[in-house]
Amino acid sequence: MSAPTKPEAAKPANFLRTLIEREVQEGVYAQRRWGGTPGDAAHHAAGIADPATVRLRFPPEPNGYLHVGHAKSICLNFGLARDFGGVCHLRFDDTNPEKEEQEYVDAIVEMVHWLGWSWDVNSTTHLYYASNYFDFMYRAAEHLIECGLAYVDEQSAEAMRATRGDFTTPGTDSPWRSRSVAENLARFREMRDGLHADGAMVLRAKIDMASPNINLRDPALYRIKRAHHHNTGDTWCIYPMYTYAHPIEDALENITHSICTLEFEDQRPFYDWLLNSLAETRTLADGRVVGGLLQRPLPKQHEFGRLNLTYVITSKRKLKALVDEKIVNGWDDPRMPTLAGMRRRGYTPESVRKMAEDTGASKTNIWVDYSVLDIALRDDLEGKAARAMAVIDPVPLKLTNWAEVFGSAEHREPCHAPAHPQHPELGSRDFSLGPAVWIERDDFAEVPAKGFFRLFPGNKVRLKYGMVVECTGCDKDADGRVTTVLATVVPDTKSGTPGADAAKVKGTITWVSQHDAVPAELRLYDRLFTEAQPDAGDRDFRDVLNPASVKLVHGYVEPALAQAQREDRFQFERHGYFVADRVDHAPDQPVFNRITGLRDSWGK
Ligand code: ATP
Ligand code: MG
Repeated sequence: MSAPTKPEAAKPANFLRTLIEREVQEGVYAQRRWGGTPGDAAHHAAGIADPATVRLRFPPEPNGYLHVGHAKSICLNFGLARDFGGVCHLRFDDTNPEKEEQEYVDAIVEMVHWLGWSWDVNSTTHLYYASNYFDFMYRAAEHLIECGLAYVDEQSAEAMRATRGDFTTPGTDSPWRSRSVAENLARFREMRDGLHADGAMVLRAKIDMASPNINLRDPALYRIKRAHHHNTGDTWCIYPMYTYAHPIEDALENITHSICTLEFEDQRPFYDWLLNSLAETRTLADGRVVGGLLQRPLPKQHEFGRLNLTYVITSKRKLKALVDEKIVNGWDDPRMPTLAGMRRRGYTPESVRKMAEDTGASKTNIWVDYSVLDIALRDDLEGKAARAMAVIDPVPLKLTNWAEVFGSAEHREPCHAPAHPQHPELGSRDFSLGPAVWIERDDFAEVPAKGFFRLFPGNKVRLKYGMVVECTGCDKDADGRVTTVLATVVPDTKSGTPGADAAKVKGTITWVSQHDAVPAELRLYDRLFTEAQPDAGDRDFRDVLNPASVKLVHGYVEPALAQAQREDRFQFERHGYFVADRVDHAPDQPVFNRITGLRDSWGK
């Protein structure tokens, strides 16, 4: 599969990896057959030995945008499949007709691809929709009824809640629990045929109303809901419950390891009960032999701890609130922890994968410091991002002796700098120095503080890749604000020429020339929240918004950046990493987003 190559470094603790390694060695899943597409036991039995050692899946519900927590799950599943010669399916868990939309389906496909994963293996596309299994799910439900393992309950929702009991009290049986198979079958078919109102009755599993695990107290399997479904339209007016649908989806797809987050742990006994009930063969009272609907070995559910990142919220509901209340500018706002937002912010897919890899998998929910992601990001960008000079808070620097030194005010001194200091093969950047320059306002001080080595009257600094200049003073406006910094250029000091280092300087500053610099909008992003756990406890995340999470400034970038393409990433020397915005950037109107600074600021 066209997936990222396997990293060589030692892998962090990951109990799932250990488990799969052992099971593959023991051949636990070696006998499975694969019918070429998802299907029941007979379909797979007619197929070939499953060419995939293991099958995993990433099963998003298409009801929102993916966030960084999903990236963890994506990389875990696709990564394990890659490492063990398996396959990972992308499956849309679209059994809930009301909340799901095509827009989300498309966005999810795009972002999993962006992360670098593929579900195309040997010309088979393993992209599936749970709604394509509705026929089988219905058939399985009738089968459970026939086996006396499910019944139609006509109690009201309140009555059902009240008779379920709680942690200390066992539940009590519904008056409908003992109706006959024939009656149940007839009622269930009436439900399917639209003869009953929404919510009038549900199909329930018949397990144990006194079970200490509340999830086994006859959970609902099917409900009546007249709703248009994005895939099946108006074919159905009954829809399977998530807890019923999900195990069946896994089994039909030949999934070996169904990896989910810890909150599903209490569902595992039902997962196993359901799949076993469908895989078993039984002899009914009338002598018919039924069952064997699913291939064995059945999938097994394994839970791992959720990833929580500091300074980030990962609840779809709260992220939606940020968008709906216009606290951010949409799902792909560069401050959002959605994958769309992170992409626009300039995160590399490699850094997100690295973070996922580095955080392993454990049996407890974990809080990961944001710096883990930020460090992975900077490590990746450091080697890749071309260097460039930019001035973010510009003040003019006038070189007053230019015409005298070079014979003409029009003279331009060509300068060169490596595109990347460690990668000479990337070539060099060209720009030129003239008498009028932009420098950072804070690179000048009329009265220098102790330890300030940049421009102040009487001091010399090097204009990086250019020449040494000596500050002579400044012009100010009526309010005392510096309008121009004045300096003289020191002859024969151009970087890379013989004797250039003769003039000793303690400071080097970045700059762009006024004659060739390109004006650019720079969007300086910072963390969205001021607290490490923005939604901890009862706190409203709206109360801890960072008022300075974005600052828009107009600066200047070096001339080569007029050619920058959307999503090109750069290190603006001394300032940090920037990306050409994938929506608003255009060569004649450059827009760069600050991805991150040059050093970790998340520990502070
Ligand atoms: P949310 O709680 O934000 O709505 P969800 O779990 O309901 O997310 P799904 O679309 O059902 O959203 O998630 C798809 C998969 O991603 C699930 O297997 C889920 O367990 C996993 N997942 C979601 N959030 C995280 C997280 N923070 N860490 C690890 N895995 C996650
Ligand atoms: Mg979910």
